[in-house]
Amino acid sequence: MTNTIEHHECLIIGSGPAGYTAAIYAARADLKPVMYLGMQPGGQLTTTTEVENYPGYPDGIDGPAMMEDLKKQAERFGTDTRWGMITEVDTTARPFTVKADDGKEMLADTLIIATGATAKYLGLESEERFKGGGVSACATCDGFFYKGKDVAVVGGGDTAAEEATYLAKLVNKVYLIVRRDELRASKAMQNRVFNTPNIEVLWNHNTKELFGEEKGFTKTLKGVVLINNKTNEERVIDIEGFFVAIGHKPNSDLFAGVLDMDTTGYIMTKPGTTTTNIPGIFACGDVQDKVYRQAVTAAGTGCMAALEAERFLASQND
Ligand code: NDP
Repeated sequence: MTNTIEHHECLIIGSGPAGYTAAIYAARADLKPVMYLGMQPGGQLTTTTEVENYPGYPDGIDGPAMMEDLKKQAERFGTDTRWGMITEVDTTARPFTVKADDGKEMLADTLIIATGATAKYLGLESEERFKGGGVSACATCDGFFYKGKDVAVVGGGDTAAEEATYLAKLVNKVYLIVRRDELRASKAMQNRVFNTPNIEVLWNHNTKELFGEEKGFTKTLKGVVLINNKTNEERVIDIEGFFVAIGHKPNSDLFAGVLDMDTTGYIMTKPGTTTTNIPGIFACGDVQDKVYRQAVTAAGTGCMAALEAERFLASQND
């Protein structure tokens, strides 16, 4: 008996809004896409509760429920969704040779990378406990729940500055916890922070721990203990929301040294497209976007990747 190796026209890696949207479009174009769901099926939205800013859901939608809907929609048109991870990709020849973590080897004419990014956290045990109960890594997603309250943002880069100014419009007061005596953020973003009266910057402070009430699964953050790293003095601040904005790590390790990336590991795509430096490989969603990072923008680029994969395949048959 001969061993026939699977050969797919379109293989999608990752299952956030970008991956599923790519799958819906690719399946409807009859590319019979195969999708590997990855380490965190459904992506970052499965770690949030309510999504209120995705168009089309006037009453909001639960993040995991939304991803389940996207999965059903992708499968309805014939996407072959598979649990598991892609562990190796040989891009030296087309079709690309791809290996999954169950040892299966496949050939793929086009690859759509939708592996997303992972928010970095401080790594404190108390931070882990209050995730979903006061601790968040996304002000645009969760800021609304803290209307009129006091919150803190930790970080000193553009993300922290942007999140702090965004939150300042919604909440009563924002403490910006910065570990050095200066911000890394661009001058324009710094000015915005300094000119916002309800943002107080706490320079040279590290986070020691978070505290609050815990009743069964219900957790309510009450405050944070900080340490001034110059004087060693402790300071307690009463807050209900703690936003971690110390950067994201794009999940692009599989393609290190193969695809063009910026210095922080984001896959570089030709502006206005999802094409990478290797013909037939497309990147969409947060793995190639460090600026917008929204579900709706990820979905938009997922659509672009599928359309571009379809055109690429058609051009190969000309
Ligand atoms: P950055 O890596 O630029 O900044 C991370 C910040 O978090 C730094 O201030 C860093 O401190 C701080 N930090 C890191 N680890 C810790 C820790 N353990 N405890 C406390 N603080 C910590 O990440 P960003 O997400 O802000 O930005 C990533 C990239 O995306 C940048 O190139 C940025 O310019 C870009 N960006 C652009 C935007 C735009 O154009 N609108 C919006 C958002 C991001 P330290 O400074 O001491 O190292």
